[in-house]
Amino acid sequence: MSRVLVVGAGLTGSLCAALLRKETTFPLYLAMWDKAGDTGGRMITANSPHNPRCTVDLGAQYITRSPRYAKEHQQFYEELLAHGILKPLTSPIEGMKGKEGDCNFVAPQGFSSIIKYYLKKSGAEVFLKHCVTRINLKDNKWEVSTDTGSTEQFDLVLLTMPAPQILELQGDIVNLISERQRQQLTAVSYSSRYALGLFYEVDMKIDVPWSCRYLSNHPSICFISIDNKKRNIESSECGPSLLIQSTVPFGVQHLKSSEADVQKLMIQQLETILPGLPQPVATICQKWIYSQVTNPVSNTPGQVTLHLKPFLVCGGDGFTHSNFDGCISSALSIMKVLKRYI
Ligand code: FAD
Repeated sequence: MSRVLVVGAGLTGSLCAALLRKETTFPLYLAMWDKAGDTGGRMITANSPHNPRCTVDLGAQYITRSPRYAKEHQQFYEELLAHGILKPLTSPIEGMKGKEGDCNFVAPQGFSSIIKYYLKKSGAEVFLKHCVTRINLKDNKWEVSTDTGSTEQFDLVLLTMPAPQILELQGDIVNLISERQRQQLTAVSYSSRYALGLFYEVDMKIDVPWSCRYLSNHPSICFISIDNKKRNIESSECGPSLLIQSTVPFGVQHLKSSEADVQKLMIQQLETILPGLPQPVATICQKWIYSQVTNPVSNTPGQVTLHLKPFLVCGGDGFTHSNFDGCISSALSIMKVLKRYI
């Protein structure tokens, strides 16, 4: 029985786990460790603390499929559409700049349902609040430790967190990363921004002709989504859920501010855009230090192999590009090298 650890329960990690289960011929124990309290990574869907049925997408908002990826990733789209995990976006988005041939999709149950779908298929044992801090090489196995001091051995490890978080890992991994690989990982950059989710009373109505709106010239807010309207969800139990995304300059300026202060500022700004909104019944503020990749690892086909025997590989959107198709491409690249070397 080979023991495999996937670090990171985002789209790349969950898809890698599902593909590993499907495509390996040997017996496999699959573990998934994530430092967060829920699965989804940057495709997290948050629940209202008052009613878990009321949700809001705090990361990815919709998936844009170009004609190229309609062909290259056809099987992934078809599978998710057939299971009702994705459906075409039909509600109006004001200010959206689309290219000819593009097609947009939403996840009716929120984007983290994609991750949950792949994790279920993988049969991986998921451990949340497991922050990997150290990776050592011992007896030809990876000895992986978390911030709580627990340590386990694995035959194969896949790292799918943002590149700066890979570079934070301590232990033998520090010396196993070659100087060239370190330079490649160091060069990966990300934008930073805030996302604020707001949940309203059941009978509250927001009377605007759009479901989402881009604001091109606003100093602090760049995107608003009436999330239930975006996903065409009608529920007698939930009121509207709103998502506000900050601009990157606002995100960078307030990286060290408290979430309470940021939330206050963002709600004040929202009031100037949608005046007269009542008090929300609940709010969730998410700081994305690593939001979208602005500069991916160059000249690498979707992954960087850090060690061959035992196998240690890293991937994610930082190794391709920062969207759904970037994660699928990275997961496919990881599977390609895995099949070649193990
Ligand atoms: P992640 O989702 O970041 O997963 C990595 C996981 O690793 C995380 O869950 C993290 O908790 C975990 N982790 C990190 N360090 C450790 C550690 N030491 N130990 C254990 N676990 C660790 N894409 C689109 O297609 N459409 C969009 O509209 C869109 N909008 C976006 C808006 C925002 C605000 C953001 C943030 C992203 C958006 N994206 C969008 C990009 C998309 O969400 C990402 O490309 C994708 O989710 C990245 O997935 P991943 O699995 O590679 O990484």
